Amino acid sequence: MHPFAYARATSIDEAVATVASNRGARYIAGGTNIVDLMFDVVETPSTIVDINALPLGAIEKHGDVLRIGALARMSDTADHPDVRAVAPFVAQALDASASAQLRNAATIGGNVLQRTRCAYFRDVTQACNKRSPGTGCAALGGENRMNAILGASDTCIATHPSDLAVALVASDATIETLGPAGRRSIPIADFYVKPLQDPSIENVLHHGELVTSIDIPIAPALANSHYLKVRDRQSYEFALVSVAIALAVEGGAIRDARLAFGGVGTVPWRSHEAELALVGRAPTPEAFEHATSIAMSGAVGREHNAFKIPLMKRAVVAALAKVSA
Ligand code: SF4
Repeated sequence: MHPFAYARATSIDEAVATVASNRGARYIAGGTNIVDLMFDVVETPSTIVDINALPLGAIEKHGDVLRIGALARMSDTADHPDVRAVAPFVAQALDASASAQLRNAATIGGNVLQRTRCAYFRDVTQACNKRSPGTGCAALGGENRMNAILGASDTCIATHPSDLAVALVASDATIETLGPAGRRSIPIADFYVKPLQDPSIENVLHHGELVTSIDIPIAPALANSHYLKVRDRQSYEFALVSVAIALAVEGGAIRDARLAFGGVGTVPWRSHEAELALVGRAPTPEAFEHATSIAMSGAVGREHNAFKIPLMKRAVVAALAKVSA
């Protein structure tokens, strides 16, 4: 690990000013991601700014929005009665993430900003355009079983690792931030960046911009939602595929459908085309298989990960049974 300075912020404005004024500075909260990356010398910040003392941990309803503070811990968020009532799949996605110990430490803001688990990204002896732009991508011809089939390019095929972000994409959540230029409210659909020329750019945050909360617009469909994660073992493992599904049905016909996919995209993946194909139809397995085919129509399977395409169809049908009962 490289040497670094440590600073503890006592106000939000102080934290933003400290990081914004130093290109080498990074925020730290739970530290469950960045400390690993510092040990692996993938991240080498000159200063880490501890934001744990900032008042950003509340989970509250504000009118028709559920606001989750960026410093709310994953376990507290998963257990919160408003989260479980407004959007059960958000709580389920959190419960399916990492381990109990990590969920007690990790924050919501850190979760949506966590970096990929592509093994080559964490091995500094390997070519990786995301870690060192222009060096190549060892995963293209290597062990790519866990890598992406949607939204990839020849520069990078890494999946986005967050379960929570998949449910948030299906929720039309917004990422609330404060930066040197002021506050921003960023729709999560516009937050993540697919790997094109420079895969090291993963989201639209500016240096020093701090995520302050995640806002979920309350909608009837979200109350009837489910997150299903398929993985190699039942705990402490990333998704092979996952699906966030939410459904509002009236008179036997789907009025609002939300369908987002994890473990397959370079960004948390939502398909509005698939959702539109469901509106007006009965919530049958056949309708959802068809919708998933639409969502996966642009998928490119590689040597070790083409199995994700049929597996996703089966996962969606299994998840449907949880919201159509
Ligand atoms: Fe790096 Fe992306 Fe290739 Fe993995 S898939 S080695 S993160 S460039």
